[in-house]
Amino acid sequence: MRFHPDPEPITDDDATIRAGVAGVPVAPLLAAVAHLTGDTTILRDELVPDLTMLLDPEGGYTPEQAAAGRELAAAALIRHRDSGSKPAAPPDDVHLRRLVAFVAGGTVDDDYLPLLEEELALDGTDLRAPRWRAAELAPQRELRVGIVGAGMSGIAVAHRLRQAGVPVVIFEKNDDVGGTWLENDYPGCRVDVPNHFYSYSFAQSPDWPQFHSTQPVLLDYFRACVDQFDLRDSIRFGTEVTDARWRDDDQRWDVHTNDADGPAVHEVDVLVSAVGQLNRPLMPDVAGIESFAGPWFHSARWEHDVDLDGKRVAVLGTGCSAVQFLPHVAERAAHLTIYQRTAPWLLPVPVYQDDLPETMRWLLRHVPDFARWDRAFIFARTQEGLLPLATVDPAWEPKDRSVSAANDMLRELLTAYIDSVVPDGELRSQVLPGYPPVAKRVVLDNGVYPAMLQRPDVTLESTGIAAITPAGVRTVDGVDHEHDVLIYGTGFQASKFLTPMRVLGTRGADLHGRWGGDARAYLGLTVPDFPNLFLMYGPNTNIVINGSIIYFSECEANYIVESVRLLLETGLQSMDCRTDVHDAYNERIDAGNRTRAWGCSDVNSWYKNEFGRVAQNWPFNLLDYWKQTRAPVASDYEMR
Ligand SMILES: Cc1cc2nc3c(=O)[nH]c(=O)nc-3n(C[C@H](O)[C@H](O)[C@H](O)COP(=O)(O)OP(=O)(O)OC[C@H]3O[C@@H](n4cnc5c(N)ncnc54)[C@H](O)[C@@H]3O)c2cc1C
Repeated sequence: MRFHPDPEPITDDDATIRAGVAGVPVAPLLAAVAHLTGDTTILRDELVPDLTMLLDPEGGYTPEQAAAGRELAAAALIRHRDSGSKPAAPPDDVHLRRLVAFVAGGTVDDDYLPLLEEELALDGTDLRAPRWRAAELAPQRELRVGIVGAGMSGIAVAHRLRQAGVPVVIFEKNDDVGGTWLENDYPGCRVDVPNHFYSYSFAQSPDWPQFHSTQPVLLDYFRACVDQFDLRDSIRFGTEVTDARWRDDDQRWDVHTNDADGPAVHEVDVLVSAVGQLNRPLMPDVAGIESFAGPWFHSARWEHDVDLDGKRVAVLGTGCSAVQFLPHVAERAAHLTIYQRTAPWLLPVPVYQDDLPETMRWLLRHVPDFARWDRAFIFARTQEGLLPLATVDPAWEPKDRSVSAANDMLRELLTAYIDSVVPDGELRSQVLPGYPPVAKRVVLDNGVYPAMLQRPDVTLESTGIAAITPAGVRTVDGVDHEHDVLIYGTGFQASKFLTPMRVLGTRGADLHGRWGGDARAYLGLTVPDFPNLFLMYGPNTNIVINGSIIYFSECEANYIVESVRLLLETGLQSMDCRTDVHDAYNERIDAGNRTRAWGCSDVNSWYKNEFGRVAQNWPFNLLDYWKQTRAPVASDYEMR
């Protein structure tokens, strides 16, 4: 995968150029072509996208507007070809603002502009790279950072710290990088967020083969990043962190690990947990799991050797992972029974499994920065995303099906989609969710899942499960169902942040004891009495309907790097979050989540912990998190 390749000169005829812009989203197309050619006259006022058209990936153009936009882009590219395909000089500030404002819907606030510029990283300029070096700030001090996990988050923070010349060591229990995208190799696994956005701002590529690429492609991407940024030598593979203990006397962390050579202890000044929210599989709380006589496994530990051909297979769960692998299982099984607890809302995304069309590949070869402008466009659309449709109207009643007029409108649209893809009355009643849209994660669909449900060799079973038996599944109505293979698509222990690690802070404070199953942190990152400990993808940093986790991890990496800078600049040894700051922040988060469909509805979801509190989700927009994580405020911490 290539990062930031040069554009190939255009030598094709007019018809090829016109074909190359066909079917391409118009707003980022115009911005990318204006950027390449320097011709901003194509950014016509009447073609500014309407970002309030939340469910329209194009931004609300009429067919005539879309055709006019593409023709403007094609004509500019033809002129560009005729004048020798020489890219324009990088845009000055005024020009850049114009381009960014265009994809952002017409205007861009002063505080939002730098964020979009960072996300764009035009011409390979990595605006989030630290602009300081440890050796310059504190030449005599070797501050060392330990990172637990070499998934997407661990790679991001390691790269940033290394850019600042801060030594890092990464402990990774697996034998390879990638975390989520290494472990989830079930058939059909792919990313839900379009790849031009689900990728690092500092490692953007025009080479994604699909809009939503599959797991092997994502794994290759993260491997390529590790190689590109020369991080492999800093990773200790096959090394699980079992304990981390803060030493009050000299204010450092002892990291206890286990690898092939046995237990060891490593000293670090700062410790980053990048262990993910979705790394430890969750098995359902059902009696008899171990008693099943046939093969069984969890989707995150897919057993590729288990033969599904001609077998009676049962799958427990209809969440995002299950919906991805179920059609593949149905192709092979003699009969597939799906045990559903709660039906997911399906969001129609026709291109969900599509390859990028050849025309778009042409465009990406000749205008590779289209990928960046597409990213900026997606970002601008998801910065608020569906939040307005998820916001609770206190006066709206009843709230069991929808939480506001806007949410109810979304419900109607999604219901109409279900009606169009599942006409059968009885199946439709099973597939139609009975809770507000976006109270749980919506599942992207291009028609494949509902078509699979209608196969004669597939049964959707909504009766609850009483027990797993040696022969299969017993439902609560006392019926025994016989199966040859059981597959658990039951998600992850998302609320059990940092488990099973043991983490001891000042005066022996136990992190899990402190949390008592209800994890909280300041900005998702720091916890009082655990100095110099930073969590990535920690409590309340997950998003439901706006954005990508990579964005959050980049913000967190920035905050961690700037915290290290604070320690180096002040010459102080540690920073410990103040309890009042932490508590006030969490009150704001809880209040924010109560105003969203996922916090208001009582439907079960992995967003809530055992106390019913939303411990996963960020309730605000993307800009808010960026603003709060630009740099630590020293007064939020006890600095020692
Ligand atoms: C199937 C699936 C699909 C997803 N799709 C999307 C999507 O479309 N969009 C999106 O934004 N997010 C998605 N996510 C969320 C996804 O987890 C994040 O996007 C991202 O990959 C998280 O990266 P991470 O590095 O924080 O965690 P992980 O990828 O989980 O990596 C954690 C790493 O830490 C290591 N580790 C854990 N404990 C220890 C220990 N004690 N010692 C040493 N190493 C340890 C693990 O082995 C792993 O390598 C998806 C998740 C799953 C499971």
